[in-house]
Order: sequence, then structure tokens, then C-alpha cells
Amino acid sequence: LEHPIGRLSLRKFHTSVLVQSYGKIPILTLFFLISHSFWPTYVSAAKYVITFDDPKLNDSVMHSGQKIDNLIRTALKSHSLRSILFVSGHRLNTKEGAELLEKWDKEGHWIGNHTYSHTSIDDPKINASQFIKDLEKQRSLIQHLNNYRPVFRYPFLKMGSSLSRRNAVHRYLQNNKIKHGFVTVDTSDWYISHRLEEALKNNPNLDLTPYRMFYQQHILERLEYYDQLAKKHYGTINHSLLLHHNLINGLFLNDLIVFLKTKGWEAINVDSVFNQKIESYLPPLQSEGSSIIWSLAKQKGEKGLRHPPEHGSYEKVKLDQQGL
Ligand SMILES: [Zn+2]
Repeated sequence: LEHPIGRLSLRKFHTSVLVQSYGKIPILTLFFLISHSFWPTYVSAAKYVITFDDPKLNDSVMHSGQKIDNLIRTALKSHSLRSILFVSGHRLNTKEGAELLEKWDKEGHWIGNHTYSHTSIDDPKINASQFIKDLEKQRSLIQHLNNYRPVFRYPFLKMGSSLSRRNAVHRYLQNNKIKHGFVTVDTSDWYISHRLEEALKNNPNLDLTPYRMFYQQHILERLEYYDQLAKKHYGTINHSLLLHHNLINGLFLNDLIVFLKTKGWEAINVDSVFNQKIESYLPPLQSEGSSIIWSLAKQKGEKGLRHPPEHGSYEKVKLDQQGL
């Protein structure tokens, strides 16, 4: 008898192995294996929902905007995942832009609200009612889609540094039953994608492997960081991971989902994230855009938080060190 768990870790121990070899294993061993192999997977796997901001059709050095979009949707489809796309219409106001949204909609992904122009709530050139109009303009362009959901994500994740603006927008969302499309795990995927594109400009035959590995490690690190912060100040949560519609996700989203799974992180459908209680949390006034967990930790006096919480410059140092 070849002991099946000699080759596989308990977490990865699989039903099919049990089914294939149960005839050869004494019944008590079988009970032991069942109870000890399924328990860790279902109890301790941390869960996250992939959310996408700012779909666009700009061509990159390597792939067209269309191709990037196809790759991202294909990766989600191959894992049977329903995601959400937070749309800022000024990037998609063409026929092709409308078609992009229809594809996401048709494939079952939720279509969520950003603002049309992506102006920050703190921008001195606008007031709260103009911000709300910008949000409504975006809604009018997407609410006909089957999978449109009244879920709103603040541009730059900024919820307002002035009391009147913050409260006016928050009240508007509550009165109109629009949920907060919060982020718990913020990342610098956009910066790593930018660096990759710069490197590809200089060398179209670039080896992509180190970029993939750097990217995967970055996302894992941010997930783990915000998860321990959440456990300390809030509790267990289904995470809302912010990614952008860009080249790096076109290239590596599939690998990322697989990699995270080996690290105990399970991607789940969008349905299980914005119905959590933290959705109604109103953070203190702040000018930094951040993960809602970060705001909560700050409010509770967590020491040693970075300011700003995420920034390309943190990854710049590491990418430079690795010659990427
Ligand atoms: Zn955005």
C-alpha cells in the first residue's frame, strides 16, 4: 500500500485519491483521513473576491486593449469566477467600450458604479452634488445591463476629507440603497504593470517569468497583510481585492489565482462580499484613499501604518533591487 498522504499534503488531499484507494485502507484510517483532510481546507482557507476597476481599451506594448480584456475574462471563466467591474465611462465612451461591457455582463460578471469622470471626492473644482451627478451619469450608462448592481466604488478609494462632502455622499448612497463597493486589499498592480510595459519597450523578448513571480508575491503579501489587520481589528472577512484592467492581469491573472490557491487563498464569487456588515462602515475624515480595513485599523490606533497605505514607490525599490 502506497500511503497517499506521503506524496500529498493534507490540504491538497483529494476525494479522487480517497475513492481510488479506499478499498486498500483499513476503515479507521479512512475516517482519520477524511476528518483530517477536509477540515483544514474548508475551515481555514481565506477567501477573496477579485474586483476590477477602470476597464479600458488602450493598447499596451504587448497586447491590444481588446486582447487584454479577452485574457482577463478567459482567466475568470476558467476558474468559473464571477467578478465585478467598476466602470468609469470616460474611458469607454465608444462603440467598442459598450461592447466590452456587454461581454462582461453576458458572462455573468456584475457591473458596478464608479463615477463617469473619475474625479476625486476631494477635488476642489467640484462640490458634493457635482460628485453625485457624476456618479449618476455613470449609472445612467450602465443600469440597463442585466448584471448591473447598485454598488459604488469611490475613485482613488477616497471617501472624503471634508465632513460635509463625506456625509453628503454617504447619505446619498444610503438613501438610494447603493452599496459601498469597498476594497479590503489594495495593491500596486498598476505600478508593476507599468514597469513591465516600460521593460517591454526596451526589450520585446523580455523573460516574463520574474515579473510574474514578483507580481504573485506582491499580491500574496498584500492579502496576508490586510488579512492579519482585519483579524486584529474586525474579524474574519471575505476580502475584496482591487485589481486593475491592465496588461499584468491579462498576462498573469490565471497564474495568480492558481498560485494563491497553493498558499491557502480561495477565490470566490462577487456575491459574497458586499453583503457584509462592514459595507456600511463610515471611516473618519481622511485624505488618503485606502482599504477599508486600513481605515478601521487607523481609527483603532494601530501603530506603524504606512502613509500612504499603498504606493508605487514601495514596489519601485524592490523592482529596482531585482533589476526588473
Ligand atoms: Zn478607479
